[in-house]
Amino acid sequence: MDKVITVLPGDGIGKEVTKGAIEVLEAIAERYGHSFQFEYGLIGGTAIDETGSPLPDETLEKCRKSDAILLGSVGGPKWDKNPSHLRPEVGLLKIRKELNLYANLRPITFFKSLAEASPLKPENIEGVDLLIVRELTGGLYFGKPSERQTRDGKEAAVDTLFYTREEMTKIIRLAFELANNRRKKVSSVDKANVLETSKLWREVVEEVAQDFPEVEVEHVLVDNAAMQLITNPRRFDVVVTENMFGDILSDEASVLTGSLGMLPSASLSYTGLNLYEPIHGSAPDIAGQNIANPLATILSAASMLRLSFGLEEEAQAIEHAVNNVLDLGYRTKDISATGSKVLTTDEMVAEVKASILDREAISNIMSAYK
Ligand code: NAD
Repeated sequence: MDKVITVLPGDGIGKEVTKGAIEVLEAIAERYGHSFQFEYGLIGGTAIDETGSPLPDETLEKCRKSDAILLGSVGGPKWDKNPSHLRPEVGLLKIRKELNLYANLRPITFFKSLAEASPLKPENIEGVDLLIVRELTGGLYFGKPSERQTRDGKEAAVDTLFYTREEMTKIIRLAFELANNRRKKVSSVDKANVLETSKLWREVVEEVAQDFPEVEVEHVLVDNAAMQLITNPRRFDVVVTENMFGDILSDEASVLTGSLGMLPSASLSYTGLNLYEPIHGSAPDIAGQNIANPLATILSAASMLRLSFGLEEEAQAIEHAVNNVLDLGYRTKDISATGSKVLTTDEMVAEVKASILDREAISNIMSAYK
């Protein structure tokens, strides 16, 4: 299979972790006989420095011509005091809007060998396997007006929470489809006791649910969902929610498994041009030191193979390699524990690659004996 992948390293550790994921994709290409062509684009603070824009048109053009996008992360103290239109995060919001990346998928999976790194007791975290489906291009972050105002002579500010029924239907339907291929349970999160948008959201959930009779559906208020993610995370399969609730809940859920450095995400578009990125930021405190955990980005690359290219076996090969390396006791600093072997970013990437390529050697031997 021949595919073009646009890589947007971004800022800080984004550069280090995307480099690692590309090496792993190259190992997959070698093992399975694919050809991946990597095109590079600028985004975030680095793009501001080089072009004056957090998302240059040239980057968008490259993305549109490719089959999938791999993003590192954006941001850093250097740009924190920039005017709001020249902040790195504007690049992220713009790419989501321009490419219609309406759905963000965050799988939260328990890694047995990392149980110690979780803030929860092992018995509460073991077996957690949930998927947060967050609406990404509507709601408070995009609604207009969003501005400072003066009302009755008083200084004020307003943001707008706006959704069309169509926007809600798209994301809710996707959640049901995903649940249908998993444990068949959708937890829809809203604030229907207060918000009009949430009341419409519930109506749409009930409507879409009619088409998925095998999927169990429940409505959970967002405050209750925040609590239950900590007290009983195993009860969730697919959690679907609007943009801001999803932003907060997915960050909360991300610490369940121990480290930001382990969690991938996928942002899906209406057109099929999807973007894959780790959930963590640019980690300026450790950037340039070759100690960042590359596994979240490597696992994001696995999601790309599965969701964009339909390469399930190859995706699993990466996931098995990551599990294998963890089982061997290899860790980056953020997930290290007593007795583990602490590796640099590059060494961790090398171990994952070796695991992928070794499996080939093993399977060749196995088939020779068949
Ligand atoms: P962060 O995720 O960058 O870092 C939080 C903490 O986790 C830091 O201590 C960091 O060292 C650690 N960490 C994160 N990823 C790691 C990894 N792969 N390996 C090891 N340790 C890791 O969040 P922050 O510090 O709040 O934000 C830093 C910058 O990143 C800010 O400018 C913020 O706006 C930006 N940010 C960008 C994105 C994105 O690009 N999608 C997401 C979140 C934050």
